[in-house]
Amino acid sequence: MSSERTYIMIKPDGVQRGLVGEIIKRFEQKGFKLVAMKLWAPPREFMENHYADLSSKGFFAGLIEYMVSGPVCSMVWEGAGAVAAGRVMLGATKPSDSATGSIRGDFCIEVGRNICHGSDTVENANKEIELWFPDGVTEWDSCQKAWIYE
Ligand code: UDP
Ligand code: MG
Repeated sequence: MSSERTYIMIKPDGVQRGLVGEIIKRFEQKGFKLVAMKLWAPPREFMENHYADLSSKGFFAGLIEYMVSGPVCSMVWEGAGAVAAGRVMLGATKPSDSATGSIRGDFCIEVGRNICHGSDTVENANKEIELWFPDGVTEWDSCQKAWIYE
């Protein structure tokens, strides 16, 4: 079994709107394993670093304001294909393009309030996990493993 990991973050609007449990529930029910989680409000520079690839975009300033407007819930989920599956579970960046049944498709309306972040590639996932959880994640064996994987 692959131990692929993805960085999933519930943004300030998702936390404020009481969607933390709903989003965790979806990843748990899918069969992924939670290996790190924290609720916190990182400083602006930290968030600018996380979104450094988007710093030339016109929406960057607004994105950073949004992302530092309250606490975020940072998580690492592990399982086969977790990065790509996580993106599908989140839905398209623009909620108007997000499929019903996805998190964004079900719970939000505007791109600037799209409630969650998920790593887009395995390489970026590894970078984001290192940034957000520099002390590493918690290795543990799930009793469900044999019931989720062949
Ligand atoms: N964003 C925005 N306006 C845009 C595109 C993106 O406000 O036109 C925000 C949105 O919150 C998005 C985040 O910037 O989730 C990061 O953009 P990215 O293209 O990486 O989308 P994601 O990977 O989150 O789907
Ligand atoms: Mg992105």
